[in-house]
Amino acid sequence: MLDLILEACLADRPEICATRLLPGPCTEAEAEARARGWAEARGLSVTAARCGRGEALAVEEVAPGVFVHNGAQALADSGNRGDIATIGFVVGEESVAVIDAGGSRAIGEALYAAVRETTDLPIGWLVITHMHPDHSLGASVFSEAGAATLAHAKLPAALEARTETYLDTLVREAGPEAALGTEVVLPSETVPERRSLDLGGRELLLEAHPTAHTDNDLTVFDTATGTLWTGDLVFDGHLPTVDGSVLGWLDVLEQLAGREAERAVPGHGGPVLDWPEGAAATHDYLARLVEETRAAVARGDSLSDAATTVGQDLAGDWALFDVFHPRNVTATFRELEWE
Ligand SMILES: [Zn+2]
Repeated sequence: MLDLILEACLADRPEICATRLLPGPCTEAEAEARARGWAEARGLSVTAARCGRGEALAVEEVAPGVFVHNGAQALADSGNRGDIATIGFVVGEESVAVIDAGGSRAIGEALYAAVRETTDLPIGWLVITHMHPDHSLGASVFSEAGAATLAHAKLPAALEARTETYLDTLVREAGPEAALGTEVVLPSETVPERRSLDLGGRELLLEAHPTAHTDNDLTVFDTATGTLWTGDLVFDGHLPTVDGSVLGWLDVLEQLAGREAERAVPGHGGPVLDWPEGAAATHDYLARLVEETRAAVARGDSLSDAATTVGQDLAGDWALFDVFHPRNVTATFRELEWE
């Protein structure tokens, strides 16, 4: 099956153009009209449209039917186009579930193309592990392909509140070409606690967690291979980022560490980690944040003092430490100062 490949430009800035993909089936007779309809609804103009295949992200099959793409350990920029998270898909006998969509329309399309290089089975679901833009902003291509979008019950409010910020930041960081056509997609269904998905011959178990990395973290367990997709509850290489509750996160990690799993797919790094050993670095970093911030609060240190002392010796252990560690100390200080 071929998809529709189009060249689209911003209607009000015609020098900003990019190649976009609309999921198939595509026929040459309908390609141009369909491309124009899609583009005009998004403030874009079309300069070319044809049937073809998109450029696929590289994926690794880490267990039978489990495909993972490892994004850059970096902030989004025009080189990586928002490809900075670990994302992928699971293939059953009847359908496919995609787990996280990447950080832009461009990356969502490239992940979609990777699914299509692997199988022609329908994509039944897109599961979004939490609202952060590097995991959620590629979603629209999958809903256009007919996938139901599933997320934690608290994701819609969290994502709606950040829509403008996320889209503006994407344009600023990854550039208008990568961002072109990117939209925020709210889930078609949410998961209050647990839910299972039947892909045909294999079942995925979705579990919504209490506030941890964010207030809408969802894990996915593939029962056929014992693979636990943790989303950003586990980081590898990239410094963990606290956008929920550091104490809640430690609780969730301790509970997850008791689960039987053959391997984990983290939200950054990997692409696979041993389980539960793979969660230890994230846990230990968060535990140090709590321990040293609590001591700083007890001493009566100010937030700015704490930001220059807490956990400084961990800088060499993590990528992006200088970007995110000061924010983590701030978030932890605010959480702990009223204990
Ligand atoms: Zn995240």
